[in-house]
Amino acid sequence: MRYTPNRMMTVNETHDPALRSWVASAQAPGTDFPIQNLPLAIVRRRGRGEPWRGGVAIGDQIVDLAALHRAHPWEGLAAEALAAAAQPKLNALMGLGPAHWSALRRALSQALREGSALRATVEPCLVPQADAEYDLPAQIGDYTDFYTSVHHATNIGKLFRPDNPLLPNYKWVPIGYHGRSSSIGVSPQAFRRPRGQIKAPDAAAPVLAPSRRLDIELEMGVFVGPGNPLGEPIPIERAEDHVFGVVLLNDWSARDIQAWEYQPLGPFLAKNFATTISPWVVTWEALAPYRVPFERPAGDPPPLPYLDDDANRRAGGVDIHLSVELRSARMAAQGLPAHTVATTNLRYTYWTVAQMVAHHTVGGCNLQPGDLLGTGTLSGPEPHQAAALIELTQGGKQPLVLPSGEQRTFLEDGDEVTLRGWCQAPGAARIGFGTCTGTVLPALAG
Ligand code: MN
Repeated sequence: MRYTPNRMMTVNETHDPALRSWVASAQAPGTDFPIQNLPLAIVRRRGRGEPWRGGVAIGDQIVDLAALHRAHPWEGLAAEALAAAAQPKLNALMGLGPAHWSALRRALSQALREGSALRATVEPCLVPQADAEYDLPAQIGDYTDFYTSVHHATNIGKLFRPDNPLLPNYKWVPIGYHGRSSSIGVSPQAFRRPRGQIKAPDAAAPVLAPSRRLDIELEMGVFVGPGNPLGEPIPIERAEDHVFGVVLLNDWSARDIQAWEYQPLGPFLAKNFATTISPWVVTWEALAPYRVPFERPAGDPPPLPYLDDDANRRAGGVDIHLSVELRSARMAAQGLPAHTVATTNLRYTYWTVAQMVAHHTVGGCNLQPGDLLGTGTLSGPEPHQAAALIELTQGGKQPLVLPSGEQRTFLEDGDEVTLRGWCQAPGAARIGFGTCTGTVLPALAG
């Protein structure tokens, strides 16, 4: 297969680690939002009943893109992209494609640099992040959840099938299922503990009850850009032109409901009650400095040709550090900080984002701007890299001990879970994803 250069993998002037912004907090050590990041969200000032609109994070501030659009600072592709980004959802911007996204990124980067002539135009458009609230970045038409961590698949498989943990299709097919988009919420999200059918192993019949095995799944969510016509697959060489950006995603899961309902068609009520994503979409272009080769263990089967090309082999992965923190209601009351229960990385996936897009569409399925693709639980090879409680606690048999002295197998009411992500590489800035936080509320009284 011939190699086609992909602009979104290319590092350009906007990634230069030497760039500095006239927004001083963009240089604060450890900030998630230096000028090299420029993620987008849907924002407004809290408590004023204002319309939602796009915003770009810079340091501890947000550039209000509707206000900037009214100032008409640019012409051409950047102006078209800015008009789309000023809307109450980012679907129109996502649908424009890489040339527009790139033009907007370059224009924003230049406008926010120290010495920019546009400072006087942009500065009145700043909103402090402390005063902002967030909505979902897009109207999510469809949500698909993959299963791309072979470590997660093996760990889970061992719990259910000790003799045969990994099913034979795993190394050939990017496994996924069609999820539920209506219950996707933006961080911080509070949701009720779900009720559902639960059957104890020794019981004759199931009961309807609140889940007692409520779990997390640390994933990343990929927002789709331009779609494809029904019946026309997206080839892997073009797949990344259809990827707008990435968020953190917590695919909350009720393991006891899942265990009873999942055969033969997979999870249903166990996962459709809530999914939380982080508000800031880090663009695919912003991730260019952190790309890594797609690698398989020696002896594993090579991907079929429609899931393989040179660019994917060379740099199909992304090095994104990830963590899960848990803070119980008692820890919060005692003023204890959140406790890190797992750290992992997106690069451990067995399938890349380009392979997810190519596989999703190979049968003709049409993706649409704003569709969301979950990566699946991103467990790494080491025990502390398990990205779900069911793995961290060996199926609930080995409780975690929190700094408050409390034990956890699965989530209790009042528990707050926060996901974080960040990228670092030699010769590149450190950029981050902000936070993805969710809190468990008590189940409705039955
Ligand atoms: Mn999942």
